[in-house]
Amino acid sequence: MSNKIALVTGSSRGIGAAIAVCLAKDGYDVVINYLNRKDKALCVLEQVEALGRRGIIVQADVSDREQVNKMFEKVRQELGNVDLLVSNAGIAGMKQIQDLTAERWHEFFAVNVDGAFNTIQNALPNMLAEHKGCIITISSMWGLRGASCESAYSATKAALIGLSRSLANELAPSGIRVNCVAPGVINTDMLDELPEEIMDTLAEETPLRRLGTEDIASLVSFLASDEASFITGQVITSDGGFVV
Ligand code: NAP
Repeated sequence: MSNKIALVTGSSRGIGAAIAVCLAKDGYDVVINYLNRKDKALCVLEQVEALGRRGIIVQADVSDREQVNKMFEKVRQELGNVDLLVSNAGIAGMKQIQDLTAERWHEFFAVNVDGAFNTIQNALPNMLAEHKGCIITISSMWGLRGASCESAYSATKAALIGLSRSLANELAPSGIRVNCVAPGVINTDMLDELPEEIMDTLAEETPLRRLGTEDIASLVSFLASDEASFITGQVITSDGGFVV
């Protein structure tokens, strides 16, 4: 029997990289998608292969439909059909609404929302044909409660919640589960632009008094597993108690 195949968008670094390695531990062959950091994608590939699994790295901008189509073609040729899609690639940034340009607003939606649409539509034909599959989107706690100076980011993350819940309804009769993870503050490069004192404040404001690390990877691993086979349409936070 061939191995199950997982595709994790934006898995060269941060949360996506941790998810890719965790899924390899779970026995998946893994597609590592990246945008610019081929060096980091190769490091993740090394870890996947060290676990005895197959992997490939594929450069594709998830906001570009053609590039995503080509990525799926390559995956089908080199590994096979995708059983588990983790739509994780995303961009963040802070600006007051009056300083946000229309271009930047559209860029947030292109990567964070169109990116999910482009990858989900490509993953679906074989999932529908096989009457099984699992899709997990990575939103944010800010998509649930909103964040000052992060209106565009929060709006895209709220859109992912609506998309995931709708798809869970639409695809459940086809045996496909769709869930959404809403992380709290996770210590990755995404937070690089924040000064250290803000990071400290965010950790203090988190009821469990720490930033997240591998927590999202372990939640994704659970949601993808047979133990979660009756769970679909859920938005699950892993945020140290930030949003209750
Ligand atoms: P990160 O450290 O900035 O890493 C972003 C990843 O996405 C990288 O692998 C990057 O590729 C890739 N990427 C960016 N734009 C892309 C595009 N257009 N096409 C394909 N790949 C692209 O981010 P992170 O903190 O791991 O965040 C991952 C996800 O979790 C995002 O959706 C984010 O919104 C969400 N999230 C993060 C936090 C947090 O506190 N960190 C909290 C809530 C939600 P390259 O390496 O090639 O640049």
